[in-house]
Amino acid sequence: MARKRSEHIIHEDEIEIGPFQLQLMFGPSWKEDIEIAVNSIFCDCGAQTKKLVEYKSYLNDLNDVILKGLCNSCNTIAARYIETGERRGIEKIANKIRRLNKE
Ligand SMILES: [Zn+2]
Repeated sequence: MARKRSEHIIHEDEIEIGPFQLQLMFGPSWKEDIEIAVNSIFCDCGAQTKKLVEYKSYLNDLNDVILKGLCNSCNTIAARYIETGERRGIEKIANKIRRLNKE
């Protein structure tokens, strides 16, 4: 059986974003959106209740947000992709974040 990677791969188009920038991306519901995402992760450990912990947030080229961290049940890497690319006005916000973070 293939072993799971022990570290996340950060793709070239992904930039790390902080809590304030998550807030900009998701708007007023950002806390709930993140809460839902971290509680609905995919992990093959099969645990009934699992949660994404110690994660970092990234913004990719499609203006989607990816949370990369650990599954709290088996303690291996897990990630959650959140599509935001379709939200109105998101491109403008994402471009602004990219500009700020690249400097
Ligand atoms: Zn797990």
